[in-house]
Amino acid sequence: AKPNKMLKFTQTERDMPEKRAANERRDDFLEIYGDYVEAKAEEQASRCSQCGVPFCQNHCPLENNIPDWLKLTAEGRVKEAWEVSSATNNMPEICGRICPQDRLCEGSCVIEQSGHGTVTIGSVERYLTDTAWEEEWIEPIKPLRERAGSVGIIGAGPAGLAAAEQLRLQGWQVTVYDRHDRAGGLLIYGIPNFKLEKKIVQRRTKRLEEGGIEFVMNCDVGVDITFDKLREKHQAVLIATGVYKARDLECPGSGAEGVSAALPFLINSNKRGLGDEVVGETAEGRNVVVIGGGDTAMDCVRTAVRQGAKSVTCLYRRDHANMPGSRRETANAQEEGVSFEWLAAPKSIHDEGGNASAVRADRMRLGQKDASGRQSPEAIEGAEFDVEADLVIKALGFSPEDMKVMSEELTTTRWGTVRVNPLSFETNLPGVYAAGDIVRGASLVVWAIREGRDAAEHMHKYLRELERAETKVAAE
Ligand code: FAD
Ligand code: SF4
Ligand code: SF4
Repeated sequence: AKPNKMLKFTQTERDMPEKRAANERRDDFLEIYGDYVEAKAEEQASRCSQCGVPFCQNHCPLENNIPDWLKLTAEGRVKEAWEVSSATNNMPEICGRICPQDRLCEGSCVIEQSGHGTVTIGSVERYLTDTAWEEEWIEPIKPLRERAGSVGIIGAGPAGLAAAEQLRLQGWQVTVYDRHDRAGGLLIYGIPNFKLEKKIVQRRTKRLEEGGIEFVMNCDVGVDITFDKLREKHQAVLIATGVYKARDLECPGSGAEGVSAALPFLINSNKRGLGDEVVGETAEGRNVVVIGGGDTAMDCVRTAVRQGAKSVTCLYRRDHANMPGSRRETANAQEEGVSFEWLAAPKSIHDEGGNASAVRADRMRLGQKDASGRQSPEAIEGAEFDVEADLVIKALGFSPEDMKVMSEELTTTRWGTVRVNPLSFETNLPGVYAAGDIVRGASLVVWAIREGRDAAEHMHKYLRELERAETKVAAE
């Protein structure tokens, strides 16, 4: 009998790819984790116990067939493992890098629960597809047949791109519109390089372009072209525009110079990294305070460190345990020298000569649980304190922009997200679908990919129906 390659978690310890030392990585924007070599990927995959009911898979939004590709990896069958992993995911190497695995697949791994440290699912996933790119296993997109029907996709983020690829594979004529000059959505302009290097995103978008998908960039739908015009041009339309209205800080002084929104700060930094000439705030030589506790806040503090800030402090109104951002990213920020003021909420911003000079914050405590079951923070009287700050970055989350600008007829929810049929992703307008953050509210890349794929499947069916009806009319 062949020796069993699996179940090695009792002999083999969990081992992540090497992480560059904090003092080395804080001076550049390169990714902080190294690559697995083949032997390491095999060794780590062999720790999986091949659960009959794989909780890892149930907690992956794409329901990736994780046990199968781990087994194939452990057996050295890397190409087959990659094929299984890419059957359910349009960008496995991106998810492997930036999914909050501790809250998804890895957080549910039974080995973790038995105290042996979770299987490093994300790192193996990344290794498989990075290898596929290197070995040129990833082939150009070749639809089996060309179809006349055409699809317009608004938004070149992960939801739009995943849908574009799926629809193109079926042979439809796909055009993607985006208001930015580069495709990728938050993958290119939100998420910083040290989490996801831009060449990883660009090789994906290049492949889509080479596969016949047309990209119309610098095109703000609702401004440069009307939504109705798009509906006339295309038989089906997908809205995948993400959520971009930044929640604002409402305290005295918040209009001072040196108070910036998170996304422009991150976009500028990413553009500089891509070689563009950019004017705008940088953190160099400044005392920086970032307000917020989510992924965006973590990306801002770590960007500020790399830009050469004098000091970087994160203010968050709840405690460490209640931070919404990924544990891993918070730990990385701490290692890189960011100070955290938990249970601290900004009260006012002071300025000198018009530019911010300090943030005055209330010290908070967690009080009664609210309707959602979370303890609401409340200020402790007389416990306010000042933090020096000449650059204040607001990272308080995002909500949808007003969709009425695009279309008066589109139905939205009370949160301003686009209302869809949860099974088909179709909106109230026939042939118009929506997916990603604009449907879910600010969420994750892996959910955007999932919804983009699901919406594409239903758009394909819809277009096939139209095609059939047209052929029937033509025959009559
Ligand atoms: P987006 O990625 O937002 O793409 C939408 C696209 O639509 C954009 O390119 C935009 O320019 C375009 N657009 C919008 N309106 C129009 C219009 N009217 N006309 C034309 N184009 C338009 N998720 C993770 O899983 N891991 C992370 O580590 C992570 N880090 C994050 C860090 C930051 C700073 C932010 C802000 C988010 C992060 N997220 C992370 C969340 C993740 O990026 C989003 O959930 C995901 O990108 C949503 O995908 P999407 O395709 O729905 O929208
Ligand atoms: Fe885990 Fe994300 Fe990969 Fe799913 S896509 S297996 S959640 S890293
Ligand atoms: Fe393997 Fe963990 Fe998934 Fe079980 S839960 S199949 S041990 S990765």
